[in-house]
Amino acid sequence: MRLPFTLLIDPMPADSVQPNFDETFHEMDSSSPALRVGELSTQRGDGIFETLAVVNGHPQEVEPHISRLRNSARICDLPMPNEEQWRAAIAYAVTRVPQRGEIALKFVLSRGVESGPAPTAWLHATAAADFSTVRTQGVRVITLDRGYPRGVAERAPWLLMGAKTLSYAVNMAAIREAHRRGADDTIFLTTDGFVMEGPTSSVVLRSNGTYITPAPSGAILHGTTQQSVFDYLGNQGERVEYRDVTVEELRRADAAWLVSSVRLAVSVVALDDEPFPADQALTEALNAYLLARSA
Ligand code: PLP
Repeated sequence: MRLPFTLLIDPMPADSVQPNFDETFHEMDSSSPALRVGELSTQRGDGIFETLAVVNGHPQEVEPHISRLRNSARICDLPMPNEEQWRAAIAYAVTRVPQRGEIALKFVLSRGVESGPAPTAWLHATAAADFSTVRTQGVRVITLDRGYPRGVAERAPWLLMGAKTLSYAVNMAAIREAHRRGADDTIFLTTDGFVMEGPTSSVVLRSNGTYITPAPSGAILHGTTQQSVFDYLGNQGERVEYRDVTVEELRRADAAWLVSSVRLAVSVVALDDEPFPADQALTEALNAYLLARSA
């Protein structure tokens, strides 16, 4: 039982069936070098990843994360991941990390080394940051232009929007810009004023009693947490909707949240320096539900 925990994985072709994938897993000392210098993930950010939460020994939303990894692989022309192998790797890691508390488990599939024969894959588990304060106090958010109009992903699929690629430098820069402006986080807008997502989260808002998230078309990741939030709200008899949302509608919303796998649901309490209404009771209910998921 230790953290960080690192597993190198020999990625198998999607159709390879093995009675025991454990032979393809290699536990590493997390502080030892593990990747080769020619690795395209480090040289070009050419790879894809997922981060899921493990809460008290339960990995959350494994299937939606694996399904999104496969979608990212499809968009990036990477070899299709072997679902069974990734399930086995996650299960293997979960038995080797502490069974109490919140853990972030990241899994990566890269194009491998230049001219190399195979992709590279690994999994890395770390203790999650303590998000208890932000879950109760919310986040101040600024809107930032993502630099593309709506529909760009469909017109220019080589931009790989909609894939969860390792190239998160832009996403991290947007969060630094938020900090520079005295905020905590960002909501990206298209150049024509539509709400997209946060740099590491999905946006959910409540407008006229309906819970809405921007449709996860080409440029927006389909958030696994947002899907859980919609399941919860749907079961409570609330109306949920995927559709385009303008920034004006966001500004007029009764409440909004940023939701993601490890931080979970946080209320937006300020938007572009203006106070924003929050529904903290619902945020707490959402987080209680999200933390209790055991699959
Ligand atoms: N959108 C982006 C760009 C993200 O990076 C993330 C998560 O990291 C999300 C949305 C939320 O996805 P999930 O709820 O599956 O963590």
